[in-house]
Amino acid sequence: ILETRQLNKHFGGLHVTGNVDFALEPGEMHCLIGPNGAGKSTFFRLILGEHMPDSGHILYDGSDITRNKPFERIRRGISVKFQVPGIFKELSVRQNLEIALQHHVAPLMLHEEIDRLLEFLKLSADHMQLAGNLSHGQKQWLEIGMAVALKPKLLLLDEPTAGMTPDETFATGEMLQELNREGMTLLAVEHDMAFVRQIAHQVTVLHFGKVFAQGTIDEIVADERVTAIYLGEADA
Ligand code: ATP
Ligand code: MG
Repeated sequence: ILETRQLNKHFGGLHVTGNVDFALEPGEMHCLIGPNGAGKSTFFRLILGEHMPDSGHILYDGSDITRNKPFERIRRGISVKFQVPGIFKELSVRQNLEIALQHHVAPLMLHEEIDRLLEFLKLSADHMQLAGNLSHGQKQWLEIGMAVALKPKLLLLDEPTAGMTPDETFATGEMLQELNREGMTLLAVEHDMAFVRQIAHQVTVLHFGKVFAQGTIDEIVADERVTAIYLGEADA
């Protein structure tokens, strides 16, 4: 569904993305890991079109989207949740979802659709709460809800479980697996290895902007080269 070919991006003298060849099969749940500053978020911004690559190509659903604007990519079914929060804190949970869905769902169906989404997000009991008053994990769920409201074909999540309790993290994995069963492809940046083990079919390790290793979670944790880059980070 997604492929990058020799994708390059630098900021000043810093090569943040170096000749990245990457492919995502339809229906795949893929996790992207790597030390801080490895270029994971930058890779997402390239896929979404918020940064233009210096060279290389991005193919999506059979066509070259390298030069497409972000809104064109979203219209074609790519959705993203970044590390920075994107919810409206002064509005209720319900109003947030209303914003995500309005103009896309027939007015008569809007509230039914919101109720369905609230139940999926385990937020039904809190639907009138101000989004700013939710727990940290619930805020992340609301954000995921806003990202999946329009049923994207490809969802990019940048650290979806950051700051969550282990129970919330596990429940998030179940939510994403349900979306995956309905046909959604997922690429998630993740630090929590238990979560990666729970959901990922494939794992890619980015290091200094390059694909350093790729495989199943078992292959990755058994790879001493991968362990070494994390130990290197701890030493620094
Ligand atoms: P983290 O795990 O901390 O989120 P990351 O893997 O997502 O890290 P990026 O945010 O992609 O890493 O950053 C990669 C490198 O590029 C970092 O050294 C960062 O300082 C640099 N960088 C990112 N965005 C810009 C920018 N707009 N201008 C200049 N340098 C940038
Ligand atoms: Mg990042």
